[in-house]
Amino acid sequence: MKRTLKSKLFVLCGLLLLLSGCTEVAITGRKQFNLVPDSTMNSMGFQSYSEFLTKSKLSKDFSKTRMVKRVGSRIQKAVEQYCAQNNLSDSLRGYQWEVNLIEDDSLNAWAMPGGKMVVYTGLLKVTQSEAGLATVMGHEIAHVFAKHGAERMTQGLIVEMGGVALSKAIANRPDKTKNIFMKSYGAGTQVGLLLPYSRVHESEADHLGLIFMAMAGYNPNEAVNFWQRMSVAKQGSQTIEILSTHPADSTRIRNIQNLIPKAMQYYRQ
Ligand SMILES: [Zn+2]
Repeated sequence: MKRTLKSKLFVLCGLLLLLSGCTEVAITGRKQFNLVPDSTMNSMGFQSYSEFLTKSKLSKDFSKTRMVKRVGSRIQKAVEQYCAQNNLSDSLRGYQWEVNLIEDDSLNAWAMPGGKMVVYTGLLKVTQSEAGLATVMGHEIAHVFAKHGAERMTQGLIVEMGGVALSKAIANRPDKTKNIFMKSYGAGTQVGLLLPYSRVHESEADHLGLIFMAMAGYNPNEAVNFWQRMSVAKQGSQTIEILSTHPADSTRIRNIQNLIPKAMQYYRQ
């Protein structure tokens, strides 16, 4: 009898937990389960980002750095504008937007919770134009906007710590919690374009990124051209094995093409 009551209580708690953690991603309307608050994700993001920067070489090319920062700032404004128009500005509270260009030949870029982004110089050969760069940055910031990292971290906490309350996990096992965060982000360097998220998260980031780049004044049709160039560039790169988990390029490009009419409604020249 006692045991039944206990198990009933357990199920009830589980349901309450699910309800409190269930949210909806703006624009796509996808339901997600997320137990990690923004403040936690952001502060872990800030810490990992500054650790990453101390170990990395910033590009000394001022004009390219300026371009990356300019595109980043236009994407940032688009995200802020979208949030303001849709009563979502709270989700950007505590953000400390920052973009840096890293001297590194990898075809990579990534963003961390709290608005911290990097682009690698190697990728500029593929982005070619500001619109190409806006495609990548729109995509990366979309992962942050849709809280994909928190969703992955929630899964990590449940798998590795049996769903222990996060506050407890951080207080008792700070190293372990940080580890799960780093895993959710592939330890900073391997995330982004190089080691993509799941297929669902990737196509969601493509979708949202297209809207943000359009709002920032970049023609969304350029996203198709960018992913076509990326598909060719990847073939000659060593990262091909990692990228094999990636949704097939042709499927991705077709999905993006289907979303162009929607994105064009947001496009401001
Ligand atoms: Zn991605």
